[in-house]
Amino acid sequence: MANRAKDKLLRQLVMANRIFAQHGVLDAFGHVSVRDPEDPARFVMSRSLAPNLVTEDDLLTFDLQGNELNGDTRRPYGERFIHGGIFEARPDVQVVCHNHSPSIIPFGVTGVPLKPIFHMASLIGTDIPVWDIAQEFGDTDMLVTSVPMGRSLARTLGPRRVALMRGHGSVIAGAAVPEVVMAGIYMEQNAQLQTMAHLLGAGQVRYLSDAEARLMGQRCSEPLTSERAWEAWCIEAGFPNDR
Ligand code: MN
Repeated sequence: MANRAKDKLLRQLVMANRIFAQHGVLDAFGHVSVRDPEDPARFVMSRSLAPNLVTEDDLLTFDLQGNELNGDTRRPYGERFIHGGIFEARPDVQVVCHNHSPSIIPFGVTGVPLKPIFHMASLIGTDIPVWDIAQEFGDTDMLVTSVPMGRSLARTLGPRRVALMRGHGSVIAGAAVPEVVMAGIYMEQNAQLQTMAHLLGAGQVRYLSDAEARLMGQRCSEPLTSERAWEAWCIEAGFPNDR
């Protein structure tokens, strides 16, 4: 039974890579991981590969410090420390996505906070922090390439679902693959819409209130909502179902 649950999760991980690539949340870069349901001190993600090419044969298993555990010598993603850092800090998190979703980048560099302006983006929450790698690590190539960097990012994320990374991208952390995919796709849409609203409204934008975002966020996490979207996106990405 445990194995069947794990098999399904790994298939979902592959589909998440493809769906995110189709929706422009991931391009040739960025990655998704899942915690190993059989050992919470491990996580699974693709070898270094463009997300739209990922298959189950490409998956590697790591400990939370980013060490590969099965002697597989294929090249891992350089930024796998993001995933280990978040899984280490957040026992509730089973799925992590790091992406360079383009429309959110301005919100990481201007001080204008990314916030939900329409109900479908409620999962991102109304309190999205920005992690600035330079604050702790000075001038770098902007990449999260060590355990201390991954832990620093996880501290900024705190208990939230989303954190932006200044001049780079974002991370999304959640309890299930469909939830993280939904948050990622609607975060990108929200960023586009929020930018339009700012222009139209000359900076005057009415956001969802904290309570509205919380109530709709709960609804988006329910199977009725997240599975409808997941089913549609799977078919679009060429997978008839996730079983
Ligand atoms: Mn990156």
